[in-house]
Amino acid sequence: MGFDAKDAKYREEGTPVSGYAENGPYHCEDCVHLEGRVCAHPVVMADPGVKKKRDADGRPYVNVEHGCCRFVRQIKPAGKFE
Ligand code: SF4
Repeated sequence: MGFDAKDAKYREEGTPVSGYAENGPYHCEDCVHLEGRVCAHPVVMADPGVKKKRDADGRPYVNVEHGCCRFVRQIKPAGKFE
């Protein structure tokens, strides 16, 4: 019995390098890599597919409310990391 990608309920989307996308349901808002309104994750910073304005250090201004990528690391409500 085999499975094909067309059988998957969810599909990976976003940029090829980091998977950055802006259509939720997760978001940068609760990620430990968000510093103010910029992302400090090195793979996201190096991702040419992330077409965002950048700060002087090359950190992209991500969409805090709707952006996300495969490197998201959420902060638990108690301030502990997942
Ligand atoms: S979810 Fe991804 S793009 Fe958003 S802040 Fe975290 S590491 Fe950066």
